[in-house]
Amino acid sequence: MRTELPILAAAAVGATLAWPRLPTASGVDTPEIAFSAARALTHVAAWSTSPRPVKSVRHDEVVQLLATELESQGFVVEQQRPGALQNLVASAPGATQDGLWLVAHSDSVPEGPGAADDGLGLGVITEVTRALSLDRVPAHLHVLFTDGEEAGLRGAEAFVRTAPTAERLAINIDARGDQGPAYMFQVAGPSSALLDGWQASGCTAQATSLARTVYDLLPNDTDFTVLQRSGWNGYNFALIGGADRYHSAGDTVANLDPRSVQQVGDCVLALARTWLDRSPAADTRSFAYAQAGPWTWVLPTWVIRALGLLVVATLRPRPRLRGVAIGASVALAALVAGVLLEGLAVALWPGFTAPVAEIPNALRLIVPAFGIGVLSCLAWRRWAGGELVDAFTVAFGGLAAVLLPTAGYLLLPGAAVAAVRSRSPTFALLPAFLAGITLGPFYAGIGDALTSRMLPLLAVLPVMTVGWVFGGVGSPPPSPVTPAAG
Ligand SMILES: [Zn+2]
Repeated sequence: MRTELPILAAAAVGATLAWPRLPTASGVDTPEIAFSAARALTHVAAWSTSPRPVKSVRHDEVVQLLATELESQGFVVEQQRPGALQNLVASAPGATQDGLWLVAHSDSVPEGPGAADDGLGLGVITEVTRALSLDRVPAHLHVLFTDGEEAGLRGAEAFVRTAPTAERLAINIDARGDQGPAYMFQVAGPSSALLDGWQASGCTAQATSLARTVYDLLPNDTDFTVLQRSGWNGYNFALIGGADRYHSAGDTVANLDPRSVQQVGDCVLALARTWLDRSPAADTRSFAYAQAGPWTWVLPTWVIRALGLLVVATLRPRPRLRGVAIGASVALAALVAGVLLEGLAVALWPGFTAPVAEIPNALRLIVPAFGIGVLSCLAWRRWAGGELVDAFTVAFGGLAAVLLPTAGYLLLPGAAVAAVRSRSPTFALLPAFLAGITLGPFYAGIGDALTSRMLPLLAVLPVMTVGWVFGGVGSPPPSPVTPAAG
């Protein structure tokens, strides 16, 4: 316990500092140059009184309201009608298609009024364009409101088929929830310049290369996917908290958190000001990045890889195959237990493949999943000894950083705790603090993004986390070599 407590405390302080916070929502009397959630929400309330699915009368009406609003700001609005869809394109008078495009979808699902999905995007974009067009509409500012997103990204597909080639940067806004911190979960294009622009914007939304890596592996799509395939650069935003109301009658303006709207709006306005009159320079390097409190750190992936190797090399005694094998077996056992638990849940509740947030009493599953993880970890330590836990934590974290740095950065500080602790418990406090900073937003984020398919992950996470905090402590120190008496 002697070194566990300070290490836990350092990690807790780091996590507290990094835990996502939302800004205060600005009222209607906010200066015109700034973004106001209250002004954006006034529009959202008017546009999402009832569902507006593709080809519905209400959708026609809302597209007209959107066109009127943008025309009143000085835009030239074109309603494109590819195959009975209604895309809305707005630009400055006489503008070419080069420049910055703010993108959202105007249709909703038939089941709900779509205040967040994607009234959020419509409201934020019209409030941002208002703030940018106080004198006149900037020459390189464009708006694209697509139709048929909910019907398979059809509006975006139709738009890119007919659009002339141009140098474009898109900011797409969508939602699969209506509260919590905003996530900028995809960067497309020259990432160094786009991440520099992101850091300079002062945006406090969550941005991690982990989310991007995971999203790239998933089949989920937004309009941004279509634009990205056509060579556009840019940023993709979403709200993911409150997923139980996603695509339901509960997606109303009353449930849309004004603070989340403010956070998206502040970011989009700041990024728009950054990119209105310039383009990101070409760059093919790869970066790991994550949010820590109100800041985003960005490191080239080679740095993460080098740190991974350094951590593995630092552990004393050296990682042994036996430790790594036992640790991997424990993690695997927790994973299998999680998969079995998920199978059991699907057998008991046929509709279980929905997001966990949509399942009544999801805690009944989350708690046992976590329990399995914690118990396996404690049993592992008791049975195999702390040194082996350390060996596994270091080898796994170090290798993850080397092999998949854009996601493996998350395990690196925890692995460093185990490696540094093997030499000096005091110095392990710094990596523990960094681990807290790295893990805080992650734990806050998976709560928002949980789906039932993540139950196996929930069973493994405690093995990883408890492993680095409660690893080698308490095991007997390697016995010093006693010189033979002569
Ligand atoms: Zn949507």
